[in-house]
Amino acid sequence: MQRILTETISVKEENGHLKKSDDFKNEKFEDNAEKASNEYKWDIKWVNVILLSYIHGAALYSCFHPVEYWSTVAIGWSYSIVTGMGTTVAAHRYFTHRSFKANKYLKFFLIMCQTMSAQEPVLHWARDHRVHHKFTDTDADPYNSRRGFFFSHVGWLMCKKHPEVIRQGKKVDMSDLENDPWLVTQKKYYIPLAFVLNFVVPVYLGILCGESFTTVWNRNLFRYIIILNFVWCVNSVAHIWGMKPYDKNISPTDSRLVGFIALGEGWHNYHHVFPWDYRTGESPNYRYNLSSAFIDFCAWMGWATELKTVPTDIIRKRVLRTGDGSHPYSKEVEEINNNNNNEHPDKLRDTEHFWGFGDKEMNPEDMKYVKVL
Ligand SMILES: [Zn+2]
Ligand SMILES: [Zn+2]
Repeated sequence: MQRILTETISVKEENGHLKKSDDFKNEKFEDNAEKASNEYKWDIKWVNVILLSYIHGAALYSCFHPVEYWSTVAIGWSYSIVTGMGTTVAAHRYFTHRSFKANKYLKFFLIMCQTMSAQEPVLHWARDHRVHHKFTDTDADPYNSRRGFFFSHVGWLMCKKHPEVIRQGKKVDMSDLENDPWLVTQKKYYIPLAFVLNFVVPVYLGILCGESFTTVWNRNLFRYIIILNFVWCVNSVAHIWGMKPYDKNISPTDSRLVGFIALGEGWHNYHHVFPWDYRTGESPNYRYNLSSAFIDFCAWMGWATELKTVPTDIIRKRVLRTGDGSHPYSKEVEEINNNNNNEHPDKLRDTEHFWGFGDKEMNPEDMKYVKVL
């Protein structure tokens, strides 16, 4: 399977045009995945179904109880931002995509934020996400959006993984993270640490502010599940609805709404095309990318270094070659055609199957895509 998939993601030229690597991947994957699909049986994880239902129910219940102590709201907001960054900056941009380097103080802070977010240990989160990038919308994609909105949003957490997810997950390179003693320790103590940081501490702070245990418990679950739903929107909404300025042939989209609520992770078409870019999007507007603002601040402090991004010319060429026409650069296509300009947009390799900076499939030729700040 790995051999076939590796073959299929190479770019081939047909009639003078680069044929999209996904076309090959899907054609061959479908044949090859038939066996895997046949062996897949829906296996519901009832514990997760009950837990997620309870948390959503308790969060809804909290909406019908007016706020008495605004200090608890301030704590909730602060917690939301910190735990959100624990996913977007820590788990996603730093550990999964290796899009910048952090000194030991920042790294410790990021691990704490990620633990506070109470999702999964970094080692689990990053494995799922690297496989998602390399095998987007195939059986090997943990949040395969071809199975519909509900599955890609939260349903994937309610059933056992497809055998292909497990198979490819074992093969994806995780050596950089698995050899990190900090992450091994985090995984070992994740459940008690996450329980204390995400539940015990905020609830205790709320009680200190004067709230009753029941009220603050339910309101904390509201804060927790809202952030989770915002993050899940990246896998669901930003794989179904929105524009595709950089590559119209893949499912990820650019969504301003998701960019705002998911602290900058909504520029998902861009992100899948250039997954090593620490900004995960082109817009310089921090309002739609709070995570970039934080990384830039850390760089200004000297705590974050070697921020990876993409040269403007590479972005422009990619837009001209595979964009859906919604990017301002796309207007140049008409000018090029009208002027009989022989400029070919580009013949570079497609990049959306890389999981980020350090993927062993990146070769020295691909480094022209990377600009280090
Ligand atoms: Zn990603
Ligand atoms: Zn995605």
